[in-house]
Amino acid sequence: MYSRPAEVLVGNAHAAEARELIRRCVHCGFCLPACPTYRVTGNELDSPRGRIYLIKDLVERGAASETTRTHLDRCLTCRACETACPSGVEYGRLVDLGRDLVQVRPPPAPRALRERLLRAALLAVATRRSLFTPIVRLAQALRGLMPRASMPWLPPSPRTARMVATSNPISRHVRRMVVLEGCVQPGLAPQINAATTRVLDRLGIALVAAHEIGCCGAMDHHLGRIDTALGKVRRNVVAGTRRLDDGVEAIVSTASGCGVFAKDYDHVLRHASPDLRRAGARVAAATRDLCEVIDVASLARLHAARGVSGPRLRVAWQAPCSLQHGQHLATAGKVEAILRAVGCELVPVANATLCCGSAGTYSLLQPELSQELRARKLASLMGAAPDVIATANVGCLEHLRQASRVPVRHWIELVDDALECATPVGAQAVATTT
Ligand code: SF4
Ligand code: SF4
Repeated sequence: MYSRPAEVLVGNAHAAEARELIRRCVHCGFCLPACPTYRVTGNELDSPRGRIYLIKDLVERGAASETTRTHLDRCLTCRACETACPSGVEYGRLVDLGRDLVQVRPPPAPRALRERLLRAALLAVATRRSLFTPIVRLAQALRGLMPRASMPWLPPSPRTARMVATSNPISRHVRRMVVLEGCVQPGLAPQINAATTRVLDRLGIALVAAHEIGCCGAMDHHLGRIDTALGKVRRNVVAGTRRLDDGVEAIVSTASGCGVFAKDYDHVLRHASPDLRRAGARVAAATRDLCEVIDVASLARLHAARGVSGPRLRVAWQAPCSLQHGQHLATAGKVEAILRAVGCELVPVANATLCCGSAGTYSLLQPELSQELRARKLASLMGAAPDVIATANVGCLEHLRQASRVPVRHWIELVDDALECATPVGAQAVATTT
Protein backbone atom coordinates (compact mmCIF):
# COMPACT_ATOMS: atom_id res chain seq x y z
CA MET A 1 0.00 0.00 0.00
CA TYR A 2 1.75 3.19 -1.17
CA SER A 3 1.18 6.56 0.55
CA ARG A 4 2.40 10.06 -0.26
CA PRO A 5 2.98 12.29 2.81
CA ALA A 6 1.17 15.59 3.25
CA GLU A 7 3.42 18.63 3.04
CA VAL A 8 3.02 19.39 6.76
CA LEU A 9 4.30 15.91 7.64
CA VAL A 10 7.37 15.92 5.37
CA GLY A 11 10.30 15.48 7.76
CA ASN A 12 8.13 14.02 10.51
CA ALA A 13 9.97 10.82 11.53
CA HIS A 14 6.84 9.08 12.79
CA ALA A 15 4.94 9.78 9.58
CA ALA A 16 7.86 8.39 7.57
CA GLU A 17 7.95 5.23 9.71
CA ALA A 18 4.20 4.82 9.40
CA ARG A 19 4.47 4.98 5.59
CA GLU A 20 7.11 2.25 5.63
CA LEU A 21 4.94 0.00 7.79
CA ILE A 22 1.82 0.66 5.70
CA ARG A 23 3.73 -0.30 2.55
CA ARG A 24 3.72 -3.98 3.56
CA CYS A 25 -0.06 -4.28 3.66
CA VAL A 26 -1.49 -6.01 0.57
CA HIS A 27 -5.16 -5.49 1.60
CA CYS A 28 -5.79 -9.25 1.71
CA GLY A 29 -8.09 -9.04 4.74
CA PHE A 30 -6.80 -12.22 6.42
CA CYS A 31 -6.53 -10.17 9.61
CA LEU A 32 -10.23 -9.30 9.78
CA PRO A 33 -11.58 -12.48 11.44
CA ALA A 34 -8.72 -12.35 13.97
CA CYS A 35 -9.69 -8.86 15.13
CA PRO A 36 -11.86 -8.78 18.28
CA THR A 37 -13.33 -5.33 17.62
CA TYR A 38 -14.27 -6.21 14.04
CA ARG A 39 -15.95 -9.38 15.29
CA VAL A 40 -18.10 -7.29 17.64
CA THR A 41 -19.01 -4.31 15.45
CA GLY A 42 -18.70 -5.81 11.93
CA ASN A 43 -17.45 -2.39 10.78
CA GLU A 44 -14.42 -2.48 8.45
CA LEU A 45 -13.12 0.68 10.14
CA ASP A 46 -12.88 -1.33 13.37
CA SER A 47 -10.64 -3.87 11.62
CA PRO A 48 -6.85 -3.77 11.15
CA ARG A 49 -7.17 -3.16 7.40
CA GLY A 50 -9.65 -0.34 7.96
CA ARG A 51 -7.41 1.29 10.57
CA ILE A 52 -4.42 1.01 8.25
CA TYR A 53 -6.43 2.92 5.61
CA LEU A 54 -7.29 5.56 8.22
CA ILE A 55 -3.62 6.02 9.19
CA LYS A 56 -2.70 6.21 5.48
CA ASP A 57 -5.33 8.91 5.04
CA LEU A 58 -3.95 10.80 8.06
CA VAL A 59 -0.41 10.68 6.66
CA GLU A 60 -1.59 11.83 3.23
CA ARG A 61 -3.92 14.61 4.38
CA GLY A 62 -1.78 15.77 7.28
CA ALA A 63 -4.79 15.99 9.61
CA ALA A 64 -6.74 13.48 11.64
CA SER A 65 -10.49 13.26 11.32
CA GLU A 66 -12.93 12.48 14.11
CA THR A 67 -13.48 9.09 12.45
CA THR A 68 -9.77 8.28 12.51
CA ARG A 69 -9.46 9.10 16.20
CA THR A 70 -12.58 7.13 17.12
CA HIS A 71 -11.52 3.94 15.36
CA LEU A 72 -7.90 4.11 16.53
CA ASP A 73 -9.21 4.60 20.07
CA ARG A 74 -11.27 1.43 19.68
CA CYS A 75 -8.21 -0.68 18.81
CA LEU A 76 -7.09 -2.88 21.72
CA THR A 77 -3.46 -3.09 20.50
CA CYS A 78 -3.90 -6.82 21.09
CA ARG A 79 -1.84 -7.60 17.95
CA ALA A 80 -3.91 -10.64 17.03
CA CYS A 81 -3.85 -9.15 13.51
CA GLU A 82 -0.04 -9.41 13.45
CA THR A 83 -0.26 -13.11 14.20
CA ALA A 84 -2.77 -13.54 11.36
CA CYS A 85 -1.04 -11.33 8.77
CA PRO A 86 0.83 -13.21 6.03
CA SER A 87 2.72 -10.05 4.96
CA GLY A 88 4.33 -9.35 8.32
CA VAL A 89 2.68 -5.97 8.87
CA GLU A 90 3.89 -4.68 12.24
CA TYR A 91 0.50 -3.34 13.15
CA GLY A 92 1.23 -2.75 16.86
CA ARG A 93 4.00 -0.30 16.00
CA LEU A 94 1.88 1.28 13.30
CA VAL A 95 -1.11 1.98 15.55
CA ASP A 96 1.14 3.60 18.19
CA LEU A 97 2.54 5.87 15.45
CA GLY A 98 -1.00 6.60 14.25
CA ARG A 99 -2.07 7.62 17.73
CA ASP A 100 0.95 9.87 18.07
CA LEU A 101 0.13 11.52 14.72
CA VAL A 102 -3.45 12.06 15.92
CA GLN A 103 -1.98 14.06 18.84
CA VAL A 104 0.22 16.07 16.43
CA ARG A 105 -2.53 16.76 13.84
CA PRO A 106 -5.75 16.37 15.87
CA PRO A 107 -9.30 16.75 14.56
CA PRO A 108 -10.80 20.22 15.04
CA ALA A 109 -13.11 19.15 17.88
CA PRO A 110 -11.29 18.23 21.09
CA ARG A 111 -12.23 15.09 23.00
CA ALA A 112 -15.15 15.40 25.41
CA LEU A 113 -14.17 16.97 28.74
CA ARG A 114 -15.01 13.80 30.68
CA GLU A 115 -12.71 11.74 28.48
CA ARG A 116 -9.88 14.26 28.71
CA LEU A 117 -10.14 14.24 32.49
CA LEU A 118 -10.26 10.44 32.63
CA ARG A 119 -7.19 10.10 30.40
CA ALA A 120 -5.28 12.69 32.41
CA ALA A 121 -6.22 11.02 35.70
CA LEU A 122 -5.21 7.57 34.45
CA LEU A 123 -1.82 8.79 33.29
CA ALA A 124 -1.25 10.84 36.45
CA VAL A 125 -2.28 8.19 38.98
CA ALA A 126 -2.15 4.69 37.50
CA THR A 127 1.42 5.05 36.20
CA ARG A 128 2.74 6.18 39.61
CA ARG A 129 3.19 3.25 41.98
CA SER A 130 3.87 5.56 44.95
CA LEU A 131 0.49 7.22 44.43
CA PHE A 132 -1.62 4.35 43.16
CA THR A 133 -0.80 1.79 45.87
CA PRO A 134 -1.77 4.04 48.84
CA ILE A 135 -5.01 4.99 47.05
CA VAL A 136 -5.89 1.31 46.63
CA ARG A 137 -5.05 0.52 50.27
CA LEU A 138 -7.13 3.48 51.49
CA ALA A 139 -10.09 2.42 49.33
CA GLN A 140 -9.79 -1.15 50.64
CA ALA A 141 -9.78 0.13 54.21
CA LEU A 142 -12.89 2.24 53.56
CA ARG A 143 -14.69 -0.42 51.54
CA GLY A 144 -17.19 -1.15 54.29
CA LEU A 145 -18.42 2.47 54.21
CA MET A 146 -19.14 2.47 50.48
CA PRO A 147 -22.06 1.08 48.49
CA ARG A 148 -21.32 -2.52 47.50
CA ALA A 149 -21.26 -1.88 43.75
CA SER A 150 -19.45 1.46 43.83
CA MET A 151 -15.91 0.19 43.15
CA PRO A 152 -16.00 -2.97 41.06
CA TRP A 153 -12.35 -2.42 40.12
CA LEU A 154 -11.20 -2.71 43.75
CA PRO A 155 -9.80 -6.18 44.52
CA PRO A 156 -10.17 -7.80 47.94
CA SER A 157 -7.40 -6.94 50.39
CA PRO A 158 -4.61 -9.49 49.91
CA ARG A 159 -4.03 -11.81 52.84
CA THR A 160 -0.93 -10.65 54.71
CA ALA A 161 0.68 -14.08 54.60
CA ARG A 162 0.43 -14.07 50.83
CA MET A 163 2.14 -10.69 50.58
CA VAL A 164 5.22 -11.74 52.50
CA ALA A 165 7.64 -13.02 49.92
CA THR A 166 10.12 -14.99 51.99
CA SER A 167 13.03 -14.30 54.28
CA ASN A 168 16.04 -12.85 52.52
CA PRO A 169 16.73 -15.31 49.67
CA ILE A 170 19.69 -13.31 48.37
CA SER A 171 22.04 -14.80 50.92
CA ARG A 172 21.19 -18.34 49.83
CA HIS A 173 21.59 -18.23 46.07
CA VAL A 174 24.24 -17.46 43.53
CA ARG A 175 21.65 -16.88 40.82
CA ARG A 176 20.02 -13.45 41.12
CA MET A 177 17.31 -11.77 39.08
CA VAL A 178 15.39 -8.52 39.51
CA VAL A 179 11.66 -8.25 39.15
CA LEU A 180 9.90 -5.50 37.17
CA GLU A 181 7.50 -4.21 39.79
CA GLY A 182 5.44 -2.10 37.42
CA CYS A 183 2.93 0.55 38.43
CA VAL A 184 -0.48 -0.95 39.27
CA GLN A 185 0.44 -4.53 40.20
CA PRO A 186 1.93 -3.79 43.64
CA GLY A 187 -1.34 -2.04 44.55
CA LEU A 188 -3.84 -4.42 42.96
CA ALA A 189 -2.11 -7.77 43.32
CA PRO A 190 1.04 -7.74 45.50
CA GLN A 191 0.59 -11.47 46.07
CA ILE A 192 1.85 -12.17 42.52
CA ASN A 193 5.43 -11.02 43.05
CA ALA A 194 5.45 -12.50 46.56
CA ALA A 195 4.47 -15.91 45.12
CA THR A 196 7.09 -15.45 42.39
CA THR A 197 9.80 -14.80 44.98
CA ARG A 198 8.86 -17.93 46.95
CA VAL A 199 8.73 -20.21 43.91
CA LEU A 200 12.00 -18.94 42.44
CA ASP A 201 13.61 -19.26 45.88
CA ARG A 202 12.72 -22.95 45.83
CA LEU A 203 14.24 -23.21 42.38
CA GLY A 204 17.52 -21.70 43.55
CA ILE A 205 17.02 -18.17 42.26
CA ALA A 206 17.03 -15.04 44.43
CA LEU A 207 14.52 -12.50 43.17
CA VAL A 208 15.56 -8.98 44.11
CA ALA A 209 13.15 -6.05 44.22
CA ALA A 210 14.35 -3.06 42.18
CA HIS A 211 12.23 -0.16 43.40
CA GLU A 212 14.09 2.30 41.19
CA ILE A 213 12.63 0.58 38.12
CA GLY A 214 9.15 2.07 37.77
CA CYS A 215 6.31 2.08 35.27
CA CYS A 216 7.51 0.53 31.99
CA GLY A 217 6.00 3.39 29.93
CA ALA A 218 3.58 1.22 27.93
CA MET A 219 0.46 3.03 29.13
CA ASP A 220 1.75 6.45 28.00
CA HIS A 221 3.04 5.00 24.73
CA HIS A 222 -0.26 3.32 23.82
CA LEU A 223 -2.19 6.50 24.64
CA GLY A 224 -0.04 8.50 22.20
CA ARG A 225 2.17 10.17 24.87
CA ILE A 226 5.40 8.96 23.31
CA ASP A 227 7.66 11.65 24.82
CA THR A 228 6.41 10.91 28.34
CA ALA A 229 6.89 7.20 27.71
CA LEU A 230 10.45 7.84 26.52
CA GLY A 231 11.31 9.55 29.82
CA LYS A 232 10.19 6.46 31.74
CA VAL A 233 12.01 4.12 29.38
CA ARG A 234 15.27 6.08 29.77
CA ARG A 235 15.00 5.95 33.58
CA ASN A 236 14.36 2.20 33.55
CA VAL A 237 17.17 1.51 31.10
CA VAL A 238 19.67 3.39 33.29
CA ALA A 239 18.43 1.55 36.41
CA GLY A 240 18.32 -1.82 34.65
CA THR A 241 21.83 -1.38 33.28
CA ARG A 242 23.16 -0.74 36.79
CA ARG A 243 21.53 -3.96 38.00
CA LEU A 244 22.97 -5.95 35.10
CA ASP A 245 26.42 -4.46 35.78
CA ASP A 246 25.92 -5.62 39.34
CA GLY A 247 25.62 -9.22 38.16
CA VAL A 248 21.89 -9.94 38.00
CA GLU A 249 21.10 -12.57 35.41
CA ALA A 250 17.76 -11.29 34.11
CA ILE A 251 14.99 -8.75 34.58
CA VAL A 252 11.85 -10.77 35.21
CA SER A 253 8.40 -9.58 34.29
CA THR A 254 5.38 -11.11 36.01
CA ALA A 255 2.96 -8.96 33.99
CA SER A 256 3.12 -9.88 30.30
CA GLY A 257 1.78 -6.42 29.32
CA CYS A 258 4.86 -4.76 30.86
CA GLY A 259 7.23 -7.48 29.64
CA VAL A 260 6.28 -7.10 26.01
CA PHE A 261 7.01 -3.38 26.12
CA ALA A 262 10.30 -3.73 28.05
CA LYS A 263 11.46 -6.33 25.50
CA ASP A 264 10.92 -3.64 22.85
CA TYR A 265 13.03 -0.95 24.56
CA ASP A 266 15.69 -1.13 21.84
CA HIS A 267 13.06 -0.20 19.25
CA VAL A 268 11.42 2.42 21.48
CA LEU A 269 14.84 4.11 21.84
CA ARG A 270 15.68 3.91 18.12
CA HIS A 271 16.05 7.72 17.86
CA ALA A 272 18.12 8.07 21.06
CA SER A 273 21.91 8.45 21.36
CA PRO A 274 24.02 5.40 20.41
CA ASP A 275 24.94 4.78 24.08
CA LEU A 276 21.32 4.81 25.19
CA ARG A 277 20.29 2.60 22.27
CA ARG A 278 22.94 0.04 23.23
CA ALA A 279 21.82 0.14 26.86
CA GLY A 280 18.18 -0.22 25.77
CA ALA A 281 19.05 -3.25 23.66
CA ARG A 282 20.91 -4.80 26.60
CA VAL A 283 18.01 -4.30 29.00
CA ALA A 284 15.52 -5.57 26.40
CA ALA A 285 17.61 -8.68 25.78
CA ALA A 286 17.84 -9.35 29.54
CA THR A 287 14.08 -9.05 30.08
CA ARG A 288 12.29 -12.37 30.53
CA ASP A 289 8.72 -13.31 31.12
CA LEU A 290 8.44 -15.35 34.31
CA CYS A 291 7.58 -18.53 32.38
CA GLU A 292 10.92 -18.28 30.56
CA VAL A 293 13.04 -18.55 33.73
CA ILE A 294 11.27 -21.56 35.23
CA ASP A 295 12.66 -24.99 34.53
CA VAL A 296 9.72 -27.39 34.18
CA ALA A 297 11.65 -30.56 35.06
CA SER A 298 12.96 -29.06 38.31
CA LEU A 299 9.49 -27.88 39.21
CA ALA A 300 8.06 -31.35 38.55
CA ARG A 301 10.71 -32.87 40.82
CA LEU A 302 9.86 -30.40 43.58
CA HIS A 303 6.19 -31.24 43.23
CA ALA A 304 6.81 -34.98 43.14
CA ALA A 305 8.86 -34.64 46.34
CA ARG A 306 5.71 -33.51 48.10
CA GLY A 307 4.22 -36.95 47.56
CA VAL A 308 0.70 -35.53 47.66
CA SER A 309 -2.05 -36.81 45.41
CA GLY A 310 -5.70 -35.89 45.23
CA PRO A 311 -8.24 -34.32 42.90
CA ARG A 312 -6.51 -32.24 40.27
CA LEU A 313 -7.29 -28.54 40.01
CA ARG A 314 -9.08 -27.91 36.71
CA VAL A 315 -7.59 -24.76 35.18
CA ALA A 316 -8.77 -22.67 32.21
CA TRP A 317 -5.65 -20.90 30.89
CA GLN A 318 -6.13 -17.43 29.43
CA ALA A 319 -3.00 -16.51 27.47
CA PRO A 320 -2.89 -12.68 27.46
CA CYS A 321 -2.45 -11.07 24.04
CA SER A 322 0.83 -9.55 25.22
CA LEU A 323 2.12 -13.08 25.88
CA GLN A 324 0.79 -14.80 22.77
CA HIS A 325 0.76 -12.12 20.05
CA GLY A 326 3.34 -9.78 21.58
CA GLN A 327 5.99 -12.12 23.02
CA HIS A 328 5.03 -15.22 21.00
CA LEU A 329 5.36 -17.35 24.12
CA ALA A 330 1.98 -19.07 24.19
CA THR A 331 2.38 -21.40 21.22
CA ALA A 332 5.19 -23.29 22.95
CA GLY A 333 2.77 -24.12 25.76
CA LYS A 334 5.29 -23.26 28.49
CA VAL A 335 2.76 -22.07 31.07
CA GLU A 336 0.56 -25.10 30.42
CA ALA A 337 3.61 -27.35 30.93
CA ILE A 338 4.44 -25.57 34.20
CA LEU A 339 0.89 -25.97 35.49
CA ARG A 340 0.77 -29.65 34.52
CA ALA A 341 4.12 -30.17 36.30
CA VAL A 342 2.48 -29.16 39.57
CA GLY A 343 -0.55 -31.40 39.08
CA CYS A 344 -3.09 -29.11 37.40
CA GLU A 345 -5.44 -30.28 34.67
CA LEU A 346 -5.74 -27.83 31.72
CA VAL A 347 -9.26 -27.70 30.29
CA PRO A 348 -9.94 -26.80 26.64
CA VAL A 349 -10.70 -23.14 25.87
CA ALA A 350 -12.34 -22.02 22.62
CA ASN A 351 -11.29 -18.84 20.77
CA ALA A 352 -8.08 -18.72 22.80
CA THR A 353 -6.47 -16.13 20.50
CA LEU A 354 -9.07 -13.44 21.21
CA CYS A 355 -8.56 -10.56 23.65
CA CYS A 356 -10.49 -10.42 26.95
CA GLY A 357 -11.10 -6.68 26.51
CA SER A 358 -8.77 -5.50 29.30
CA ALA A 359 -5.94 -4.02 27.18
CA GLY A 360 -4.42 -1.65 29.73
CA THR A 361 -6.69 1.36 30.08
CA TYR A 362 -9.13 0.13 27.42
CA SER A 363 -11.63 -1.27 29.94
CA LEU A 364 -12.04 2.25 31.36
CA LEU A 365 -11.89 4.21 28.10
CA GLN A 366 -14.05 1.86 25.98
CA PRO A 367 -16.31 0.21 28.59
CA GLU A 368 -19.02 -1.09 26.24
CA LEU A 369 -16.73 -2.89 23.82
CA SER A 370 -14.54 -4.05 26.67
CA GLN A 371 -17.45 -5.60 28.59
CA GLU A 372 -18.77 -7.34 25.48
CA LEU A 373 -15.34 -8.84 24.82
CA ARG A 374 -15.07 -9.92 28.46
CA ALA A 375 -18.46 -11.64 28.33
CA ARG A 376 -17.40 -13.55 25.20
CA LYS A 377 -14.03 -14.47 26.71
CA LEU A 378 -15.58 -15.67 29.97
CA ALA A 379 -18.09 -17.80 28.05
CA SER A 380 -15.12 -19.47 26.30
CA LEU A 381 -13.11 -19.87 29.49
CA MET A 382 -16.06 -21.34 31.41
CA GLY A 383 -16.96 -23.79 28.61
CA ALA A 384 -15.47 -26.79 30.41
CA ALA A 385 -16.50 -25.66 33.92
CA PRO A 386 -13.01 -25.05 35.38
CA ASP A 387 -12.28 -24.55 39.10
CA VAL A 388 -10.13 -21.51 38.37
CA ILE A 389 -9.01 -19.25 35.53
CA ALA A 390 -5.25 -18.65 35.26
CA THR A 391 -3.65 -15.72 33.46
CA ALA A 392 -0.28 -13.97 33.18
CA ASN A 393 -1.14 -10.29 33.31
CA VAL A 394 -2.55 -8.23 36.15
CA GLY A 395 -4.80 -6.21 33.83
CA CYS A 396 -6.52 -9.31 32.42
CA LEU A 397 -6.73 -10.78 35.93
CA GLU A 398 -8.52 -7.78 37.40
CA HIS A 399 -10.76 -7.30 34.37
CA LEU A 400 -11.92 -10.94 34.27
CA ARG A 401 -12.20 -11.19 38.07
CA GLN A 402 -14.89 -8.50 38.15
CA ALA A 403 -17.31 -10.68 36.16
CA SER A 404 -16.13 -14.23 36.75
CA ARG A 405 -18.02 -16.88 38.73
CA VAL A 406 -14.74 -18.69 39.55
CA PRO A 407 -11.51 -17.26 40.96
CA VAL A 408 -9.10 -15.65 38.51
CA ARG A 409 -5.44 -15.87 39.49
CA HIS A 410 -1.94 -15.45 38.12
CA TRP A 411 -0.58 -18.88 37.20
CA ILE A 412 2.39 -18.44 39.57
CA GLU A 413 -0.05 -18.33 42.49
CA LEU A 414 -1.29 -21.81 41.54
CA VAL A 415 2.31 -23.05 41.41
CA ASP A 416 2.99 -21.44 44.79
CA ASP A 417 -0.08 -23.14 46.28
CA ALA A 418 0.95 -26.49 44.86
CA LEU A 419 4.46 -26.21 46.36
CA GLU A 420 3.48 -24.59 49.63
CA CYS A 421 4.51 -27.54 51.76
CA ALA A 422 7.27 -28.75 49.43
CA THR A 423 10.97 -28.93 50.05
CA PRO A 424 11.87 -26.61 52.93
CA VAL A 425 13.23 -23.29 51.78
CA GLY A 426 17.01 -23.51 51.56
CA ALA A 427 17.20 -27.23 50.74
CA GLN A 428 18.01 -26.80 47.08
CA ALA A 429 18.69 -30.40 46.16
CA VAL A 430 17.06 -29.89 42.79
CA ALA A 431 18.35 -26.43 41.98
CA THR A 432 17.73 -25.53 38.38
CA THR A 433 19.42 -24.61 35.21
CA THR A 434 17.44 -22.75 32.61
S1 SF4 B 1 -4.52 -4.82 17.48
FE1 SF4 B 1 -6.31 -6.14 17.95
S2 SF4 B 1 -8.08 -4.74 18.02
FE2 SF4 B 1 -6.39 -3.61 17.02
S3 SF4 B 1 -6.71 -3.97 14.81
FE3 SF4 B 1 -5.28 -5.59 15.52
S4 SF4 B 1 -6.59 -7.34 16.08
FE4 SF4 B 1 -7.93 -5.52 15.91
S1 SF4 C 1 -3.59 -9.47 6.85
FE1 SF4 C 1 -1.83 -8.05 6.75
S2 SF4 C 1 -1.58 -7.59 4.57
FE2 SF4 C 1 -3.63 -8.49 4.81
S3 SF4 C 1 -5.01 -6.68 5.10
FE3 SF4 C 1 -4.41 -7.39 7.15
S4 SF4 C 1 -2.60 -6.13 7.64
FE4 SF4 C 1 -2.89 -5.94 5.40
